[in-house]
Amino acid sequence: MTAQRLRLGARGVRVRSRHTVADMTDVAPDDPREPCPRAVLDAMPSYKPGKPATPTGGLAAYKMSSNENPYPPLPSVLAVVQAAAGTINRYPDMAVTALTEALAESLEVPAECIATGTGSVGVLGQVVQAMCEAGDEVVYAWRSFEAYPIVCAVAGAASVPVPLAPGQRHDLPAMAAAVTERTRVLIVCTPNNPTGTVVRADELEDLLAAVPPSVLVVIDEAYCEFVTDDSGPDAMALWRRHENVMVLRTFSKAYGLAGLRVGYAVAHPRVAAALRKTAVPFGVNSLAQAAGVASLAAYDELEVRVKALVAERERVEAELADQGWQLEPSSANFVWFPLGARSTEFAAACEEVGLMVRQYGDDGVRVTISEPEANDRLLSVTERFRTR
Ligand SMILES: *Cc1c(COP(=O)(O)O)cnc(C)c1O
Repeated sequence: MTAQRLRLGARGVRVRSRHTVADMTDVAPDDPREPCPRAVLDAMPSYKPGKPATPTGGLAAYKMSSNENPYPPLPSVLAVVQAAAGTINRYPDMAVTALTEALAESLEVPAECIATGTGSVGVLGQVVQAMCEAGDEVVYAWRSFEAYPIVCAVAGAASVPVPLAPGQRHDLPAMAAAVTERTRVLIVCTPNNPTGTVVRADELEDLLAAVPPSVLVVIDEAYCEFVTDDSGPDAMALWRRHENVMVLRTFSKAYGLAGLRVGYAVAHPRVAAALRKTAVPFGVNSLAQAAGVASLAAYDELEVRVKALVAERERVEAELADQGWQLEPSSANFVWFPLGARSTEFAAACEEVGLMVRQYGDDGVRVTISEPEANDRLLSVTERFRTR
């Protein structure tokens, strides 16, 4: 018990003399005598970070649980971040001018259509706050990115999760059918985290034709750089053609800047302006801004790494198929094992040999494509697990 609570308790004793201090030590969570967070938070899942790599039995451990880029920062990006560190006594540029202009140029869109935030999770929070009154609905697939229910609950919006279709894919017709007059936002995660599947361009066109133009359709493309499947949508082209489309992207995955927290939206001007209003002031810090600009300039170098990760994904998938696994092809930097009740056993088998992976209850296990040594070790676990 804190001193603060004790004092409050003591005051309670004076006012309501039937109570003793001992009674006060056991206040219920909704006791009107203490600050009481919103009830929705009790029901809300907390965001679970991936487990850190912890060395086991002399084996190097690998973190394959957070879809991070295993490569260290590019020397050119690191140099810019180090230089920017010399100015951290100052606030960052609140308008995020240089990064916004660099993004606008590389995406060939007007700067007024870009809005930045503290990771694309931060931007998504801005979206829900900008679009939803209490109780307004946000439609998304499930299972999908675990931040979706959290940002909705925090903003007081109602989550409308729509189960995935067979094949671990978004059920876009069912998502369109889930739209009501309360729906303000519909999120399409492609490739989907954690299942790795893409929506097809034609399915997404059909969805856009079916939903009212008042629904903001957010295309979450956190992994777009890893896509090799041609059936997927060209989100930027859809954005150009549809006033109600917004594209959400991040520097955390392909760009390898997860630790700096910077993501962005490409939205039409009215929505983009609303996202700037709901942003945390000065949220995108000066190191993140500088690193984002430097990373856009160095994308040719980063792309070499992205291609190497895609090649590793293809190698792992081919080997898994040889082992007899029948998995949906992944378009991201991770592989999804829909193991149902065997998920815990599989995650434990990985962790026993120092591979930290991400288990989602009894749905499955997601494993991030990492260093070749880590991927090799994963393949030895999957081989043993198949025949167990
Ligand atoms: C990782 C991820 C993000 C990006 O998160 P940041 O906040 O930008 O680090 C966004 N959407 C999905 C689906 C993700 O998996």
